[in-house]
Amino acid sequence: MSYSSEESKARREGFIAAGLCARCGQKPATHKLECEDCHAKHLNLERVRREKRKQVGLCVKCGRSNAATGKAMCEACRKKVKDALQRRRDGGKCLKCNRFVEPGSVHCKTCLANQRKYSAAVRHAAIMAYGGYRCACPGCTETTPEFLHIDHTNNDGAAHRRETKGTRGLGLYFWLKKNNYPSGFQVLCANCNHAKAIYGYCPHCPDREVNNAPVSRSRTHNGHAASTGIRPKPTPVS
Ligand SMILES: [Zn+2]
Ligand SMILES: [Zn+2]
Ligand SMILES: [Zn+2]
Ligand SMILES: [Zn+2]
Ligand SMILES: [Zn+2]
Repeated sequence: MSYSSEESKARREGFIAAGLCARCGQKPATHKLECEDCHAKHLNLERVRREKRKQVGLCVKCGRSNAATGKAMCEACRKKVKDALQRRRDGGKCLKCNRFVEPGSVHCKTCLANQRKYSAAVRHAAIMAYGGYRCACPGCTETTPEFLHIDHTNNDGAAHRRETKGTRGLGLYFWLKKNNYPSGFQVLCANCNHAKAIYGYCPHCPDREVNNAPVSRSRTHNGHAASTGIRPKPTPVS
């Protein structure tokens, strides 16, 4: 089957009007104008093409001019992209897809929902990479997903945030993904994490460091990890 460019344009517009994928016209458009599958294919092709251009120092967008020094695009393309974003901003359009924005955001409802979904998936992957939904404190049984987060095992979170320019909150999950889930992190609940940060130990098990808990712990019969560092009991302050 072949279509003239006029025909294919009309066809495409019909799909868009019906809320269907502009490429295949079969599934609902959930990613910009494309369905999930077409979007993934498209992204992959795009990635390969950009990579090839990058390797030879060409602008990743137009593939004709040389990329500006230290940049991925040529000056002309950089300006085009910047102007297009400004036009969207001025027109109240989503910076990602050009639909109208949600009030108070620079993105539309669909893109915001996609972003939230993606962030949740990245967070989930990080929690799973560090042992799953269970607090790593040997004396804690917390498994509620909303109470758990990733802790810097050696209390070097502040230094890490400085080094990586502010990987706090969600940023940390993205950083972990990008860096292939390095060691030095564990899953802790908000209570244990807070106690560890403020007092250096958790009252669940004051004679042990909430530290260096291996990623997959085997628990002993009483529910406490077999061995972690022993620390002296703190003198209670009255
Ligand atoms: Zn499609
Ligand atoms: Zn260019
Ligand atoms: Zn959008
Ligand atoms: Zn805990
Ligand atoms: Zn604890």
